[in-house]
Amino acid sequence: MTVRTRFAPSPTGFLHIGGARTAYLNALYARRHGGQYLLRIEDTDKSRSTPEAVAQIIESLDWLGLTPDEPPVMQSAREARHREVAEALLASGQAYRAYETADELKAMREAATLAHRPPHYSGHWRDRESGPAEAGRPYAIRIKAPRGGSTIVDDLVQGRVEVSHAELDDMIILRSDGTPTYLHAVVVDDHDMGITHVIRGDDHLTNTFRQCMVFDAMGWARPAFAHVPLIHGADGAKLSKRHGAVGVLEWRDQGILPEAALNALLRLGWGQGDTEIIGAEEAARVFDIADVGRAAARMD
Ligand code: GLU
Repeated sequence: MTVRTRFAPSPTGFLHIGGARTAYLNALYARRHGGQYLLRIEDTDKSRSTPEAVAQIIESLDWLGLTPDEPPVMQSAREARHREVAEALLASGQAYRAYETADELKAMREAATLAHRPPHYSGHWRDRESGPAEAGRPYAIRIKAPRGGSTIVDDLVQGRVEVSHAELDDMIILRSDGTPTYLHAVVVDDHDMGITHVIRGDDHLTNTFRQCMVFDAMGWARPAFAHVPLIHGADGAKLSKRHGAVGVLEWRDQGILPEAALNALLRLGWGQGDTEIIGAEEAARVFDIADVGRAAARMD
């Protein structure tokens, strides 16, 4: 098996150092195993993605020496494929058409909240055939969540994580306007790009269980997952502007060398004894994702 990793930023702003660290870990893991490190720009949210942000992300990665091994994949260019997979799940009976309107879904969520239940979709259309009343009405495609039992992920950083299927509902994979949802698109892309290891921030851990539904329903092998803790400021709060420069190009403009930037990023939550300085080549020889700490890294 050839290791293939990817960094998958959403181009909604500049590349911050948390993202750069994720990219570096992906690159290191691939290099360590003689594999490839790829870049996927997750630009499906057209109202928030900008070409300037895409250019800035690529410029930042190039400056750091984290240019991907293949041309970047633009997620928005793959919508037809996302739709095709949703249709395939529909055809195989693992997904279904759901005809609720936005107002009906809102009422469903409100009723669940009032009854102190999680705001899950009721599954109303799961085992119902549509009739003449539905003809020509818009519908979303929902995937059938597994019932009974649980999903287990042996995360390379977090360890074994188990989620009961009672916590999952039949999520939408294709909206009524024909656009794929984010959680669906990610799985189709990771599969088609041949990704073997998904290394990303631990804010995506809960998404993983929903993404597994799509891998499993398609009969695709799941990749290995490694959810790395986010970077916090010296005060323990999630890293933000008020902690100082958090943009990769801000570091560059302050005169920080890319080698130093990479070294600092690597030392956040990973280390080799007391070694303070580890170049990218040396790191690629010794890096193991399993050695990344589980606690949030503090950037001092
Ligand atoms: N696009 C997501 C983000 O920027 C990353 C998704 C992933 O790595 O799976 O947070």
